[in-house]
Amino acid sequence: MTALEQMLAVNQDFVQNVSEDFTLAAETVSKVPRKKLAILTCMDTRLVEFLEPALGIKREDAVVIKNAGNTVTSSFEATIRSLLIAIFELGIQEIMVIGHEDCGVAHSTAQEIIRKMCRRGISYDAIKMIKDELETWLDNFHHPHENVCQVVEKIKNNPLIPMDVPIHGLIFEPHTGQISTLVNGYQELTDSSLLQSLIRGGEPKRDRGLGLVNKKGGEKSMKLISLKAVVDRDKCIGCSICSKICPSLAIAITEKKANVKESDCRGCGGCEQRCPVYAIKMVKLAEPYTVSVDISDIPYDQIASLCVKAKLNPEQIICYCTTTRAEEVAGAILKGARTPEELSRDTGIRMGCKVECIQPILRLLKAADIVPERPKGYQWYGLTPTIWDIPENVKAKYNERGFYFEEDIKLLDKVANAKPEGRKS
Ligand code: SF4
Ligand code: SF4
Ligand SMILES: [Zn+2]
Repeated sequence: MTALEQMLAVNQDFVQNVSEDFTLAAETVSKVPRKKLAILTCMDTRLVEFLEPALGIKREDAVVIKNAGNTVTSSFEATIRSLLIAIFELGIQEIMVIGHEDCGVAHSTAQEIIRKMCRRGISYDAIKMIKDELETWLDNFHHPHENVCQVVEKIKNNPLIPMDVPIHGLIFEPHTGQISTLVNGYQELTDSSLLQSLIRGGEPKRDRGLGLVNKKGGEKSMKLISLKAVVDRDKCIGCSICSKICPSLAIAITEKKANVKESDCRGCGGCEQRCPVYAIKMVKLAEPYTVSVDISDIPYDQIASLCVKAKLNPEQIICYCTTTRAEEVAGAILKGARTPEELSRDTGIRMGCKVECIQPILRLLKAADIVPERPKGYQWYGLTPTIWDIPENVKAKYNERGFYFEEDIKLLDKVANAKPEGRKS
């Protein structure tokens, strides 16, 4: 009997005698995890039917993601995708990265795997495609404890993971079932609520690993650029995806190859993540530099009035990935920036997810009577309506259905006009 036949026979027997605990619950059973928890752990066989009971995790309690060595390799790989579904579709509110002692991945090397692949007839051309990534992954996995801490950091610094999700790092003993804490995710979260940071801003809670660190230098907010995009021309197939997503329009396609204008690249890594043939690598700059717009020489009431016209508080963070505030973008506009791309180059804004901040940017430009021309490709689409644009008849219709348009407008106007403590004007 083959393994498959054996399993199907067991299944037939199982279905005939399945416990009522499973079948009676079938109608009420939910894919939404009751404990609002996602676990990332290793695929090791010793963890099967041992890790969950050791944690008191039952069916429906948690999302469990498994891979070799509970690893995360890049910003949008399969594990991160699963976590995004878990957070945004299934409502999970905490992540636990659980490694285990004696993890086999710590003993694997890229060279050994490649040797075994060659022996099994895998073509070297295929191996060449993944060789660099394989080495980066396996040859940097030295110890399961160190790996857990690194994976926690990677998830924490991923611009797609909300900042209010605690990420814990734990280690499991596969012989005794003992769990030990390496990283307590609660301690990593700062006390300030998202609402506080919405108005007051402040130090970013996490360096998002984008080559951008928002440093406050007195009144000046600066982003440190420490990476640049480098194209491997042999691999590039000239598809132009990178040039379409680059927020600072630093990439041009000439002779069917991507060319990065280094002085315009702000090191976001977006092109590296999207290139379908992995032709772009982010490389550390020999001399990192900062970008910022000095707003100290602009009368603050001009900045404030532009922000308030755009229904934004000047001190409001409008780009969470880079913690750029409305006042800096308004200052850049008052100093002559005319497009989102110029604003990205001047202030470093839009160097993370590239999704949330485009609307406030367009609102600020509109408040200054600027309607920028959309660049070719898909960097951004136009302005979307805000609550202030909803027609009276639509409001009247939906008021009865539990919407609070007027109350929301009042609150948002209050946010825009609030003068945080210590502001002079
Ligand atoms: S997408 Fe980001 S990393 Fe790539 S060239 Fe543009 S700014 Fe640089
Ligand atoms: S996305 Fe990659 S393959 Fe496409 S043009 Fe850019 S570097 Fe070349
Ligand atoms: Zn393992």
